[in-house]
Amino acid sequence: MDVVFVGAGPANLSGALHLASLIKTHNAEVQSGKRAGAPLGEIEIGVIEKGAAVGAHILSGAVMDPRALRELIPDFVEQGAPLESPVKEDYFLYLTKKHALRSPITPPPLRNHGYYIVSLNRLTAWLGEKCEAAGVNIFPEFPGADILYDEGDRQRREAQTKLRTGSRSSRQGDGAGRRPARLVNQTAH
Ligand SMILES: Cc1cc2nc3c(=O)[nH]c(=O)nc-3n(C[C@H](O)[C@H](O)[C@H](O)COP(=O)(O)OP(=O)(O)OC[C@H]3O[C@@H](n4cnc5c(N)ncnc54)[C@H](O)[C@@H]3O)c2cc1C
Repeated sequence: MDVVFVGAGPANLSGALHLASLIKTHNAEVQSGKRAGAPLGEIEIGVIEKGAAVGAHILSGAVMDPRALRELIPDFVEQGAPLESPVKEDYFLYLTKKHALRSPITPPPLRNHGYYIVSLNRLTAWLGEKCEAAGVNIFPEFPGADILYDEGDRQRREAQTKLRTGSRSSRQGDGAGRRPARLVNQTAH
């Protein structure tokens, strides 16, 4: 792997997808002569996730501001992003034991018009599929445990990050049968 993201949450999946897209654009532009420089070639991007599947450890429901997703995937609605519903109404309520008192105004930070109600679990799984379609390698059941640096060599030689599967152990505390992973920064040969 050339680039490894630790954790398949929405942030890292978006980052991996964006990186894959930037590399693809760069290579295409260099090839067509639109951009100077050398093509980057095959850059292996990996995302490791300690959960059994992408989204398995993402449990919150969410009201999503779609601004970032729109930048990443402009036609996310047409592409079938799992959106439950657009937000249609906002209320700010003060709850007593028996009543709900509606505020005449909804404070600006709590206004969600234009946002979407999503299951973040489903949205994350969908982003994972988009990543895989873009050539990103996803490794579920893969808890990252350590990052090991070789301080001396790192300054003098190119460092290469390598994924290594360790022996089964309970050291990572993530349950029996899981594959503990180590992120090892090694010097390139
Ligand atoms: C109850 C609740 C309600 C929320 N409601 C909203 C809302 O309405 N609207 C909103 O915008 N936001 C909401 N949030 C916040 C939102 O969930 C987070 O901002 C968002 O999930 C952060 O995304 P992330 O990718 O940075 O990290 P996460 O979603 O936390 O993803 C991290 C991923 O990395 C994996 N991981 C962690 N450590 C390792 C490791 N060592 N090795 C391998 N994998 C690892 C985890 O299993 C997980 O899959 C809510 C959060 C909670 C808890």
